Amino acid sequence: MARAAERAELVPVIGLEVHVQLETDTKIFCGCSTEPAEEEEPNTRVCPTCLGLPGALPVLNEAAVEAAVKVGKALDADIPEETRFHRKNYYYPDLPKNFQITQYDAPLCADGELEFSHEGERRTVNVRRAHLEEDPGSLRHVREGPADLDVRTTSVDRADYSLVDYNRAGTPLMEVVTEPDFRHPKEVRAFLEKLEEVLEYLGVFDAGRDGSLRIDANLSMVEASEVGDDGHIDEDVLESANRTEVKNISSHKGAEQALGYERNRQENQLKRGKAVAQETRHFNETHGNTVSMRSKEEEKDYRYFGEADLPPLQVSDWKERIAIPELPDARRERFREEYGLDQEAASKLTSRKAVADFYEDVAEQFDPDLAAAWVADTLLGELNYRDMAIEDVTDRLDEFTRLIELVDGGEVTTKNAEEVVLRAMLDEGLDPDEVIEREGLGTAGDDEVATAVAEAIDENPDAVDDYRAGEGGAINFLVGQVMAKTGGSAAPDDVNAMLREQLDG
Ligand code: ADP
Ligand code: MG
Ligand code: ZN
Repeated sequence: MARAAERAELVPVIGLEVHVQLETDTKIFCGCSTEPAEEEEPNTRVCPTCLGLPGALPVLNEAAVEAAVKVGKALDADIPEETRFHRKNYYYPDLPKNFQITQYDAPLCADGELEFSHEGERRTVNVRRAHLEEDPGSLRHVREGPADLDVRTTSVDRADYSLVDYNRAGTPLMEVVTEPDFRHPKEVRAFLEKLEEVLEYLGVFDAGRDGSLRIDANLSMVEASEVGDDGHIDEDVLESANRTEVKNISSHKGAEQALGYERNRQENQLKRGKAVAQETRHFNETHGNTVSMRSKEEEKDYRYFGEADLPPLQVSDWKERIAIPELPDARRERFREEYGLDQEAASKLTSRKAVADFYEDVAEQFDPDLAAAWVADTLLGELNYRDMAIEDVTDRLDEFTRLIELVDGGEVTTKNAEEVVLRAMLDEGLDPDEVIEREGLGTAGDDEVATAVAEAIDENPDAVDDYRAGEGGAINFLVGQVMAKTGGSAAPDDVNAMLREQLDG
């Protein structure tokens, strides 16, 4: 019996708690700015409220609630008549009040879902709840270097002392809690990517901001026989499976790695007949492993009680009042219908809102397929290669459409446009006409091409003989010769036709 159990096939069960920083101008319970203070002194964006000084009272930021309602709508969640705030009590130096204002039994959003694609399949993960809360401050653990060296940031256990910065304290967070619906670490990554896409479309989130998405990842191993055909696992099986929670992972890749490590660790543990401890673990990004932090805290440890300084909030009409824009899935489908794009191009063009907007501006002026090829393949490829983003060129739409117009009108070849003009536009900030002028890239006149064709035939009698003997490759060689003579400024199809006319005639 025991042996059989040890050999039973195990599958991972994963659920996420994702902390999303909402983009608002000011903090959630005070008027302090949320602008990142990277080059700035710590503790410069603080006031009595976010420092937790006695007597200072919180005032709820309407913009944070609006942003959270948008997220709720995008997740197709239920928004109740009334939502309430609670205090979650714990002591930590980054939390000056010794409690965090969060939501407990009446969260702003419940029972939502998010659909995403993973390995060509559509998957839906249920969202148990999504609530508003405040971010704590941040700590910097310092190890003193030799006198002539600057202090160094290190891990808490190696630090001589720690510094605390309350600039982040009070930044609005939305915690999105999923059901344990994931069955593979890779799915988690696909889900997080989709979540960020949606948040970005809603205009409530900045993926580029450090720490704007932080993930707690829960994993347990369950016997495969407990998983139904539809993937369902009974509540009591989930309850009784010992799980670990890996805290505070800051990237999609990190989440996949940490969960992959946890899956293997727990599986090995169970196969050796040892139980998995229910605990909180820390992900070490450098080593790609997780280490035990503490036994898992339980709800009762936090002594939740109602936040008496904030009255309950009536939100039933907010759902109607607050509109959300077209989301990535809807936009992708519209791109397929309206522009006739294939799945791949439509997906590529809609995964970021700014790309989709840019594409639609280009498609207004050109054939949709032509516009798609230029934006999805050429432009995104060149931007990607340069580590640039679409935002770097959104105000150069006119220059980009001018380039396509020049190619369309036969004034520059596609090859030169892609390989010379666009690159110089991106690298040097020039407009397309300037590049064409400077590089002398105007398309070759008919006379120039005719001369080059005649020369190529004269100079390559062997290739001509091969062609006449029916060897297909010979024509390509001759086209290449003409292209070289014209500095790449002739259209290869035209050259091919002219050569054949000469040789066949
Ligand atoms: P807690 O109160 O300990 O935080 P919850 O039941 O609220 O636990 O769930 C927290 C997270 O743990 C959720 O994301 C949920 O999906 C996940 N979770 C619950 N059960 C399991 C399990 N058996 N394996 C993995 N994750 C789980
Ligand atoms: Mg939790
Ligand atoms: Zn403040």
